[in-house]
Amino acid sequence: MESISYTERIPVRAGVYDVIVAGGGVAGVAAALTAVRDGKKALLIEKSTILGGLGTLGLINLFVPMCNGRGRQIIFGLAEEMLRLSIRHGWAMVPSDWRNGQPDHPTEQRYVARFSPAIFALVLREWLEDSGVELLFDCIVSGTVMQGNHCEGVVIDGKSGREFIRGKMFIDATGDGDLMRRAGVPTVTGDNFDFYGAKAISLESCQKAVKTGRIEDAITGISGGTVNLYGKGQPADVPLWHGTSTDSTNQYLSHNQRLMLENVKKLPNEGFEIVTLPGMLQTRTSCRIDGEYTLKADDAYRHFDDSVGAICDFERRDFLYEMPYRLLIHRGFDNIATAGRCASGEGYAWDLLRVIPPAIITGQAIGNAACLALDSGKGIDQVDVPSLQRMQADQNVMVHFDDALIPKDLEHAGEWTNDFGHV
Ligand SMILES: Cc1cc2nc3c(=O)[nH]c(=O)nc-3n(C[C@H](O)[C@H](O)[C@H](O)COP(=O)(O)OP(=O)(O)OC[C@H]3O[C@@H](n4cnc5c(N)ncnc54)[C@H](O)[C@@H]3O)c2cc1C
Repeated sequence: MESISYTERIPVRAGVYDVIVAGGGVAGVAAALTAVRDGKKALLIEKSTILGGLGTLGLINLFVPMCNGRGRQIIFGLAEEMLRLSIRHGWAMVPSDWRNGQPDHPTEQRYVARFSPAIFALVLREWLEDSGVELLFDCIVSGTVMQGNHCEGVVIDGKSGREFIRGKMFIDATGDGDLMRRAGVPTVTGDNFDFYGAKAISLESCQKAVKTGRIEDAITGISGGTVNLYGKGQPADVPLWHGTSTDSTNQYLSHNQRLMLENVKKLPNEGFEIVTLPGMLQTRTSCRIDGEYTLKADDAYRHFDDSVGAICDFERRDFLYEMPYRLLIHRGFDNIATAGRCASGEGYAWDLLRVIPPAIITGQAIGNAACLALDSGKGIDQVDVPSLQRMQADQNVMVHFDDALIPKDLEHAGEWTNDFGHV
């Protein structure tokens, strides 16, 4: 491609932030909140107008299971706090055994929660603002200013034009690796099957809601692409999407919005309405850090010395994993790290890491790591892991799973439990 170079003088925002988080999905929210709770000055920059990312703007309003499928909760910490926050106002769907938290008896019901995406987005804003996180919406992080592998600050594009913001620690929670790619951190791009879903209502769904007295029954869906995470039904003539190039993004939107309209045209004009189109691409695995370690599906039941949180498998009962800190960093980059969808996982392990509860725990871990790095004067790629693990544990994160939870008969463990919808 032809290229040009040009120079431009741009305004510098006053002050220096301890922690700058790019992207306000659940991972970014968790990272920024953790930083201010640890007493740091944190700024979160979000390109859209609301918080929550795929969980709200992307209409993916489901916390996948936070338990092992036998009645034992595995994922706690900020994921538990945010799940409870997501169902505090508006309608909520939590299985009966888990309504009041960890049940006192074994159960095969899995601990999931469905919530109102719009109300949760409003709640998240209030939560972060009241906690002292500074927020900049409608601003895209479009560049980084680097001294070698050290980031001096970010360039944002907003309505005032381009501006530079100084910071000490930078967390890429864009889901697409935008900050890392601009900073030269090694990344890996993912391939995504075709999916595009919106929220809709119909006369039938509204009648059902009136009958049951539950507003959530009024919501139905309509899709463009409908392919699940295993690729079932991927049309041969549709490319795999990655969401990390302008052209791929626009092709995805054009293809899927036309496909959705074709589906609308098949419906009667009266009695059907699309309530909300997704406000962002619904790509699961766009771009991740090429981390110091890359989690694999075969790492089930493996303990890691540098684990920052235990997680469960959202599809299969019993399966447990630990997330090593090395998933979030690339050595040599002393003040840039990542969390959420950009954590380093391979194949199905990337799926295990990117879903809402683990994404929140990696956000919490990197928020703590940034603070630890600042306090110790070490790079974020060199933090003292036992201290980080203590911070996570003090904040109610299960750092290592209990070996008593490993099934005796591994051959027959892992029964499929996904009866709760899309992931
Ligand atoms: C089709 C699909 C189904 C899914 N189903 C489930 C499910 O059922 N349950 C579940 O738990 N998880 C599910 N997930 C995964 C889940 O929703 C996300 O992976 C999870 O919310 C973690 O998100 P994140 O915070 O890492 O990133 P995201 O939610 O992608 O948030 C990134 C944020 O960064 C912003 N941003 C991006 N680039 C920039 C930039 N350059 N500057 C500033 N801001 C920027 C975006 O606007 C966004 O708000 C699904 C995902 C998809 C795509």
